[in-house]
Amino acid sequence: MGSALKLVIAGILSVTAAASWFAPVSAAPAQGETVYYKAGFSYGPVDASVRSRIEGKSYRKNSNIALDELRYVRVLYCGFDGETKAGELIVNQEIAEDIVEIFYDLYQHPYPIQEISLIDKYDADDERSMRANNTSAFNYRPISGSSTLSKHAYGMAIDINPRINPYVRGAEIQPENGSAYTQRDPRKCEGKYREQMIQKGDYVYRLFREHGFTWGGDWASLKDYQHFEK
Ligand SMILES: [Zn+2]
Repeated sequence: MGSALKLVIAGILSVTAAASWFAPVSAAPAQGETVYYKAGFSYGPVDASVRSRIEGKSYRKNSNIALDELRYVRVLYCGFDGETKAGELIVNQEIAEDIVEIFYDLYQHPYPIQEISLIDKYDADDERSMRANNTSAFNYRPISGSSTLSKHAYGMAIDINPRINPYVRGAEIQPENGSAYTQRDPRKCEGKYREQMIQKGDYVYRLFREHGFTWGGDWASLKDYQHFEK
């Protein structure tokens, strides 16, 4: 490198250093403000009150994901009873905007969802939450039957109506009460909510795909019909 170029680079570096030195305190990376997308749809930092609800349950201190990388999301949704309900999710900041956009579209459709509660309502027990057909995202846990962290541990995955869209690996079915829904053909399935099962190419599938998510129902080694991840 020529000495003239070195001088130019040194100059740029010193200007950059000076700029950050004089930057106002408010320009420091903050946890982010709450973004209001539409009435009833927002995302913002995990504040102290939310933190107190998840600490020791879905969130544990770790070196992989920090609380300020996560966002607390509020949505409205249409329940299986046709009523409008308020739901809450925790997701990675990288997908928070996708999630409010997707859930706004699902609500407008309307696409029925049984429940959207933080998994902490079920003490972060995935099986209990799935059994209740609860839609949830963040949970600091490994992949089922593995020591590798799940995409849920980073808030990069979401499970939709998990009881009627079970996880199926060979003879293993999660949740246990989702076994009727391993038959994915609604004409043959005997489950009460067979018409609400996620199908490849349907509305919810296309919506998540358009936002760059992949679907666990497309996997070959196992089927995770409830699962979308980025
Ligand atoms: Zn999942």
